Amino acid sequence: MSQLADRIAVVTGGSRGIGRGIALELAKRGATLVINYNSNADAANEVVEQIKTGGGQAIAVQADVGTEDGANSLIKATTDAYGKIDILINNAGTTRDNVIMLMKPEDFDTVIQTNLRSTWLCSKAAVRTMMRKRYGRIVNITSISGIAGNAGQTNYSASKAGIIGLTKALAREVASRGITVNAVAPGFVLTDLTKDLPEDITSQLNNNIPLGRWGEIQDVAYSTAFLASDEAAYITGHVLVVDGGMAM
Ligand code: NAP
Repeated sequence: MSQLADRIAVVTGGSRGIGRGIALELAKRGATLVINYNSNADAANEVVEQIKTGGGQAIAVQADVGTEDGANSLIKATTDAYGKIDILINNAGTTRDNVIMLMKPEDFDTVIQTNLRSTWLCSKAAVRTMMRKRYGRIVNITSISGIAGNAGQTNYSASKAGIIGLTKALAREVASRGITVNAVAPGFVLTDLTKDLPEDITSQLNNNIPLGRWGEIQDVAYSTAFLASDEAAYITGHVLVVDGGMAM
């Protein structure tokens, strides 16, 4: 039997980049997927089709997970379709980089809302259902920027550090109900989010990665799938850094 057969998994921002890779990996291991997206329906539908072509089950659900209505409607759509939620991957994220002197308050708010508030809102909505089943796996995608800080990312680093605190607090809250809450902290992975980084920053980054390369989407997908599995039952409140050794 597949490792995640009978598991219902929601991936926020599952339509592109790292979220897409995580969704495909969970589906490969037998989970039924809910692919959340905000604006790009075609990308989400392509992931659904790819999962179905591989013999799996998936639906796409539009929701801005940074809003209470969006997060609640995503979890409701999941339970309406499949009756439960076993795995929640809080992956949706965005950036609005700038030095603090030039960063606008709305750039701070947008990043906190999309990255941190969404993680809190979706977890709150999902935990209710998970508690009833006395089973759950929540994996939050943070970043080494939330551990080491990154110049030009005061908003993003704050959101990602916040996710780490949230992960540990919630892990303590729900542990007795059979729910684990962990985080994955990727280093730099080539996606739409990072493709426009200036040349001087990328070459500087390359020199600081002991394993000598950027992360692949699959590197993050494997780590996330492990924390979402039954094999990770005794791990909670953990931050798994997947960065080629960059932040050690
Ligand atoms: P990406 O390629 O830009 O994809 C972002 C995904 O999030 C898209 O599916 C997008 O959907 C969705 N999304 C954005 N805002 C949303 C909202 N309000 N509601 C629902 N979905 C929303 O980004 P990525 O690089 O894969 O990043 C994924 C996660 O990994 C983020 O949390 C990011 O901070 C984290 N991370 C990335 C890196 C890296 O190097 N790439 C490193 C560390 C951590 P639409 O297209 O429909 O808007």
